[in-house]
Amino acid sequence: MNAASKKVRVALIAHDNLKTAMVGWARTNLSKLKRMEVSATGTTGARIESELPLKVKKFKSGPLGGDQQIGARIAEGKMDLVIFFWDPLAPHPHDVDVKALLRIAAVYDVPMACNPSTADRIMRSFA
Ligand code: PGA
Repeated sequence: MNAASKKVRVALIAHDNLKTAMVGWARTNLSKLKRMEVSATGTTGARIESELPLKVKKFKSGPLGGDQQIGARIAEGKMDLVIFFWDPLAPHPHDVDVKALLRIAAVYDVPMACNPSTADRIMRSFA
């Protein structure tokens, strides 16, 4: 939680085949996301902002270091939640970054949803 704004800081990431699913998920959860501090990897954030009335802080694109930027925020205690729709059926050039993000979220016990149904359950825990 951002001590200054008291907002939950959430990062959204979706691999290419799941970006449409992420936009749909964000649309469904729009009212809750509007009350959070939303950030995303570059392309995911741009898609969400172009399709939904939601302000998103955009990091670099995932393959260019965006996942690592989000991992750094976790290590600094500046990220409360990660919604990460990673694609288990496609190879990715930045696979090591994906693994590092999963690891650092586990190290710092930051909740991370890796599929829509987990993301839904986590979002239900927020008012
Ligand atoms: P992107 O990055 O939102 O910039 O596509 C996601 C990823 O591939 O990690």
